[in-house]
Amino acid sequence: MTSSAEAPSFSTERRRMVAEQLRARGIADERLLEAMARVPRHEFVPAPYRDQAYEDHPLPIAQGQTISQPYIVALMLEELSLKPEDKVLEVGTGSGYVTALLAELAAEVFSIERHAALAEEARATLARLGYANVQLFVGDGSQGLPEHAPYDAILVSAAALRLPPALVAQLAEGGRMIIPVGPGDAQQLQLITIRNGQLHVQLRELCRFVPLVQGQS
Ligand code: SAH
Repeated sequence: MTSSAEAPSFSTERRRMVAEQLRARGIADERLLEAMARVPRHEFVPAPYRDQAYEDHPLPIAQGQTISQPYIVALMLEELSLKPEDKVLEVGTGSGYVTALLAELAAEVFSIERHAALAEEARATLARLGYANVQLFVGDGSQGLPEHAPYDAILVSAAALRLPPALVAQLAEGGRMIIPVGPGDAQQLQLITIRNGQLHVQLRELCRFVPLVQGQS
């Protein structure tokens, strides 16, 4: 589901990104690696940074936000163990890059972003690339999207000070959520799972994300 006309150098760089930044660092899920080799990340990066689209770091997008480093995106997606039939919620659409990966890996994707301008741009990019199993919303994603819950997986791309109870409540039995938790300089990814109605929290990598802004701006 990617655009057919792309400069050969982008696909070469993307294959190198997968080999050197992901596979070499232990990302082993083949379906995920294939998706990351397919999705044209440069389409989600603002024009001035496009030549850095496959480099090993985050990049600025509009509204003072960032498109995450490819490796951290891969780590988060691998933790979710997505199945093709899953229904997924993403909080913090940003550029829409992770939304596209989720659309490749799951059946249905709901994504919520608080900046309308970012959501509009992501909507246009995802439509141009032909992703039809994605629905975008503008609002406070810390409240989730109860009208489409429950979700098999939730991916949060902005750091919460505490685990948002509304998101936990919208996880299905057997559901998984990956979320950065903590203040700016001391965040850690948490993998939340619901098994037999019980909440389990596993601490994962240290990380640095933009804050999850709660309430109205
Ligand atoms: N996965 C995105 C990450 C963007 S950065 C990408 O790779 O492009 C995180 C995004 O979360 C920002 O766009 C920010 O505006 C958004 N965000 C922060 N708090 C939010 C909230 N409460 N609800 C929805 N989106 C939020």
